[in-house]
Amino acid sequence: MASTIVAKFNRYLPGILLGLVLGGAGGRAQTLPLAENLINLASSQGEELLYSSQARRDFLPLSTQFVTQINQAYCGVASSVMVLNALGIKAPLAPEYAPYHVFTQDNFFTANTQRVTTIERVRQRGMTLAQLGQLLASHGATPQVYHAADSSLGDFRRKTIANLNQPHNFVLVNYLRRTLKQEWGGHISPLAAYHQQSDRFLILDVSRYKYPPVWVKAEDLWQAMNTLDPDSGLSRGFVLVNRP
Ligand code: CA
Repeated sequence: MASTIVAKFNRYLPGILLGLVLGGAGGRAQTLPLAENLINLASSQGEELLYSSQARRDFLPLSTQFVTQINQAYCGVASSVMVLNALGIKAPLAPEYAPYHVFTQDNFFTANTQRVTTIERVRQRGMTLAQLGQLLASHGATPQVYHAADSSLGDFRRKTIANLNQPHNFVLVNYLRRTLKQEWGGHISPLAAYHQQSDRFLILDVSRYKYPPVWVKAEDLWQAMNTLDPDSGLSRGFVLVNRP
């Protein structure tokens, strides 16, 4: 009897996980259309890629912390909050939830983060890849920052797949949307899974009002990361985030 229940649970687990990510609306938010290079996670093809993904260890912990960025400059803040909460790093008090402690996009900014950049600056311009790493470190995480220009597609694929197979660490990507035929500028979001046969990564896009989670070809994502960020004068790239 118990094994039957377990078998049924395993059978339906991917659907349960997908429901966590897509929410009650079944993924039918009024998001922008996707170009043919991207696969919507909520499509039958996207769902199948998740079911048959060989590297989805990070999907559940990230999907249970999946948030929408609270303004159009906070992609890095929202992505960081997801990862800090998923890592279980000691969180500050959230006044709106007192006495409970959790990272939110409001309590993310502290005296320590002020040494990296200011809340005003992030509201206007977002953050660079290096600042993303420094902000995560200021909260006690251990980030490894990789600019695409100093790495390679093979190196990115190898490091990231290894991470997506491991618990208690996560991957954030910083890329140029228009390279993926999305609107328009630099963006940051977590990666949640990799599908080997199609060579695609799953991006949990934190601008959920605009785009659904998408499966993107590794090479396309690489090209989108290997772009110049005018705010830093350096290429975009990715961050591997570990516990302290
Ligand atoms: Ca991981």
